[in-house]
Amino acid sequence: MSTEHAVDTPVTVVGAGMSGAACAAALVAAGVPVRVLDRGRAPGGRMASPELHGRRVDVGAGYFTVRDNGFESVVGDWRDRGLAREWTDTFGVLATGAPPSTSTGPMRWATPGGLRSLVRDVLGDIDVTTDDLEALPDGDVVVAMPDPQAARLVDIDDPVGCDPVIAVAVGFAPDSVRDLPFLHAAFVNEHPSVSFVADDGSRRGDGAAVLVAHTTPELAAAHLDDPDSVTGEVVAALADLLDISMASPEWTHAHRWTFAKPTGAHDATHSLRRVDGRLIGLAGDQWCPQGSPRIESAWRSGTDLAAAIVTDRRA
Ligand SMILES: Cc1cc2nc3c(=O)[nH]c(=O)nc-3n(C[C@H](O)[C@H](O)[C@H](O)COP(=O)(O)OP(=O)(O)OC[C@H]3O[C@@H](n4cnc5c(N)ncnc54)[C@H](O)[C@@H]3O)c2cc1C
Repeated sequence: MSTEHAVDTPVTVVGAGMSGAACAAALVAAGVPVRVLDRGRAPGGRMASPELHGRRVDVGAGYFTVRDNGFESVVGDWRDRGLAREWTDTFGVLATGAPPSTSTGPMRWATPGGLRSLVRDVLGDIDVTTDDLEALPDGDVVVAMPDPQAARLVDIDDPVGCDPVIAVAVGFAPDSVRDLPFLHAAFVNEHPSVSFVADDGSRRGDGAAVLVAHTTPELAAAHLDDPDSVTGEVVAALADLLDISMASPEWTHAHRWTFAKPTGAHDATHSLRRVDGRLIGLAGDQWCPQGSPRIESAWRSGTDLAAAIVTDRRA
């Protein structure tokens, strides 16, 4: 079996989000050459931190949690090198017509350089080539992305769907946003427009007056063709919820996530099968038997898939 697929032929990893990056890094660490392709100009996928008005803003994932033992040691290394820090275990809870409250849960981690910096760190020296694939490349392949995107390249049994989100970043004049009814971030309950809002200055640790709101899936679905068209409704919702009507935004930026959050999960951390003599692996946060897709499940998925590929190639 392995003679056909010599250990030194590269594995092509399609998708340079956390799952693809973790898979590629683990393959390289095991001596397997990789080539990594992503349609985005920068790696990171849904851990996106574009530079907006002079600083990086997390417009995708807002933070990460650490329940996985293997991921914990990676995060410990990030902490020691100043790439990530414990942010908070307590978020606000907002709802129209109700007084603000708080909710305490697991420690949420954030980054001074934006969450994308962690994907870049996982990749290390591995280059990412920009390529928007429309068909599966030759040879052994890893497809590391949400199922609706992966299904354009490969057959998937029982694909997991995804809810959309539009993230709206709102920048204010320095020091103009004070006395918010929450610290750090807040879940927004039973609101037609907004489901979550984060203080990006708190998250990044620079105190910038930048908020990032996530729309409800319903509002996002109605505006996927024109994400900017949602901005007015979101800014009005923030003014209402946060009572910041006196501060006018200096700028706004809307980012569309058509496949933001898996609506279910596979009951394994990855898939690896041999089709016509070559390996085809699937990874991503939806490969999450614990049932709560997130950054740490993407890392676990890519890491486990790499181990399975190495085992198969050495068999
Ligand atoms: C708005 C939002 C909020 C979130 N909040 C949190 C949170 O608070 N905490 C948390 O842990 N997680 C959160 N998440 C989820 C988290 O971002 C994901 O779990 C994680 O980033 C998934 O990584 P991935 O590698 O599985 O997929 P992705 O990051 O989606 O990576 C897939 C990659 O594949 C590429 N790609 C797709 N199709 C092709 C193609 N045809 N050719 C080439 N490349 C292709 C894409 O460009 C992308 O880079 C959030 C996500 C969003 C969008």
